[in-house]
Amino acid sequence: MTEIPKSHPRYASLVARERVADGVKKGFTSTQGLIAQGRGEAFDYLLGEKTTPSAAKATRAAAAMLLLAERPALSVNGNVAALVPQEMVELARALGAPLEVNLFHRTEERVGKIADLLRSLGAKEVLGEWPDAAVPGLDHARAKATRGGIYDADVVLIPLEDGDRCEALVKMGKKVIAVDLNPLSRTSRMATVTIVDNIVRAVPNLTSAVRELSGLSKGDLSKILEDYDNNRILHQAVEEIQAHLEEQFKNT
Ligand code: ATP
Ligand code: MG
Repeated sequence: MTEIPKSHPRYASLVARERVADGVKKGFTSTQGLIAQGRGEAFDYLLGEKTTPSAAKATRAAAAMLLLAERPALSVNGNVAALVPQEMVELARALGAPLEVNLFHRTEERVGKIADLLRSLGAKEVLGEWPDAAVPGLDHARAKATRGGIYDADVVLIPLEDGDRCEALVKMGKKVIAVDLNPLSRTSRMATVTIVDNIVRAVPNLTSAVRELSGLSKGDLSKILEDYDNNRILHQAVEEIQAHLEEQFKNT
């Protein structure tokens, strides 16, 4: 990987870019994943490359929802595998939930490489290599899912997902938690809970929130969700972007 000086003002962003590029070289990530990362970077820049109050609130709601789930499942795609593989394994462990490799540009080779990567990092249950069910409303290649994983989960975490697939999962009656830096994307608007944050910050924050809330009763967890309004969270994210931009102008 290219050496990036730690003193660089946008160090974290450049490291993430290198990791996604490296994911392509190693065969985890599709070339389209590079474009997705670029779009994410642009929104992260607008947000100030930090976890905003609305993202923190959504993260807490997501943690409560995952802890209340009967059958949670966590989706892993090529960008997630490049950026936060160890962090996803830790989140899966904290929840006792399976990880399912779920690719938009699916090739069996990439699925296998990502599954091997997750297992090498200590993942207990990795699904996705042998899909045995189809998500209704999606074309054959995109519909593939696994029983015991995403297909019959009640709560699914999709860090980076296409809008159509997010919608199809919601239509199946699942609660869907998305991580997406674009508060306007179809994914963000379709999801039950949207964390508008970079996955490199969101996934570790979510694991911390799961650990912090894991001692709460079902009643107390439900209370966290009672007053959660995803539409309001997305509006707040847009306001946070506006406030950040105004701040930039003041400083110049
Ligand atoms: P829509 O849902 O409106 O159809 P899209 O699916 O066409 O949008 P893509 O470029 O295909 O958008 O997917 C990338 C999405 O993932 C973008 O919304 C982008 O902001 C988001 N994204 C990319 N990298 C990250 C990241 N590191 N962390 C969080 N979100 C990211
Ligand atoms: Mg899309």
